[in-house]
Amino acid sequence: MKKMLKNVSFVILLLKMCIIFGQETANQKRIIIDVGHGGKDSGAIGINGIQEKDIVLNVALEILKLNEKSENPMDIYLTRYSDTLISLSDRTKLNKALKTDVFISLHCNHSNNPNARGIEVYVANATSQYSKDATWLAFQLQDAFNKELGFESRGVKFANFQVLRETIDYCPSLLLELGFLSNVDEAVYYQKSELYQSLGLAILESLIKNFSSYGRVGN
Ligand SMILES: [Zn+2]
Repeated sequence: MKKMLKNVSFVILLLKMCIIFGQETANQKRIIIDVGHGGKDSGAIGINGIQEKDIVLNVALEILKLNEKSENPMDIYLTRYSDTLISLSDRTKLNKALKTDVFISLHCNHSNNPNARGIEVYVANATSQYSKDATWLAFQLQDAFNKELGFESRGVKFANFQVLRETIDYCPSLLLELGFLSNVDEAVYYQKSELYQSLGLAILESLIKNFSSYGRVGN
């Protein structure tokens, strides 16, 4: 784990975020954090029994908490706030109804190869007016996970996932695969609550930092 985790000081990251918040305009952006799986659908299960549905909920709740603490919070909605199962189409319908500026779906990876590790960021492989912005934000997030948290970058990928396909016509949308639960180091890493804070902060910080460039112009 030492190899993967840099000596990230949560306090330093938080301070950095406060500075960025101070520069934000009053134009509040609306974001949906789509919390993958839930209820009877546990998603991937780690070698230590840790479940994807719990990890992504923890990260999402940290994003909410950090956002509420900020001086200039964004308008953030989760697709689920507890351990319940929501259909994929309900998740994307919510996105359409709320007219969001960004949709980000949180997941964790699993592989038969125990050595597979790192973070993948997915963008819809369909073309829309938001594709460029989504791809650009994907690279920013990948970069933040790598530089600030020490996660290996597995690259920005393009896929036909339902939650991406059904949202990309309305706003930039991304799906994050936050590490491999089949990897010993990363599964153990997820047993530490600091990771949820660090991941939540990295996601929130990237959104704030990059908003002026990809937010809906004039909105
Ligand atoms: Zn998943």
